[in-house]
Amino acid sequence: MPQRTIVVFSGGLDSTTLLYHQRAAGDEVRALSVDYGHRHRAAELAAARAIAADLGVEHRVLDLRSLAGFFGANSLTDATVEVPDGAYSPATMALTVVPNRNMVLLAVALAWASAEGGDAVAFGAHGGAYTPYPDCRPEFAAAMHAAAMACDARPLAVLAPFVAWSKADIVRRAVALGVPLGTTWSCYAGGDIHCGRCGTCLDRRAAFAEAGVPDPTGYVT
Ligand SMILES: [Zn+2]
Repeated sequence: MPQRTIVVFSGGLDSTTLLYHQRAAGDEVRALSVDYGHRHRAAELAAARAIAADLGVEHRVLDLRSLAGFFGANSLTDATVEVPDGAYSPATMALTVVPNRNMVLLAVALAWASAEGGDAVAFGAHGGAYTPYPDCRPEFAAAMHAAAMACDARPLAVLAPFVAWSKADIVRRAVALGVPLGTTWSCYAGGDIHCGRCGTCLDRRAAFAEAGVPDPTGYVT
C-alpha cells in the first residue's frame, strides 16, 4: 500500500539506495538530512542535496550542530580525534560511533512525519559480514518501530528494509534501481574526494568488489 515515508538520508550509498527503494515501492518519499557538526558534513550534504534535487524529492537539512558537544570523543564530531585508517576493528569502530545517532535522527524524522500526516520513516541500517553499529541492529530497529507505534495519536512505522542485508546486497539493489552510485558519499575523513583508507571507504570498496560491480568512486589512494 502506498504510504508517505520520510527517509533518513545522508547521501551515502545505503540511504540513497533506500530512498530509491522506497520510491520504487510506490511510497511518496521525502528526505531528511542532519548536520550534526560531523567532519565529513560538507561533502556528504552536497551529495545529499544533488541526489534529492535530481530525484525531485523534498529534502530538508536539519541543523543540529549544537549537539556535537554532547557526542563525546569520536572522530566524526570531535576534530581532535583522528579518523582511523584501515579495516574496522572493535577499537577503531568505537572511534567512529556517534552515540545513539540513529535514535536522534529517527526521533526528528518521526516528528516531521507526525506533523505532516506521514505514515512511516525509514533508515538504511544494514547487517552482513561487517560489524554493525549498535543502533543498526535488528533489535534496535524493532524497538524504534514499537516506539513509533506509540509516539503519536496515529501509529507510525519505522522501516529498516536492509537490516538483514549485506552492503554488497545494497550495491546490487542500487544497480537494479539505477542509483547514481558515483554521486553518493561515504568517506569519514573530511576531504573533497574519498580517502580510500578509512574503515568506511574500505567497506565501500569491499561491497562493490563483493557485488561484482565496478566502483565509480574516485579515491585518493
Ligand atoms: Zn575515507
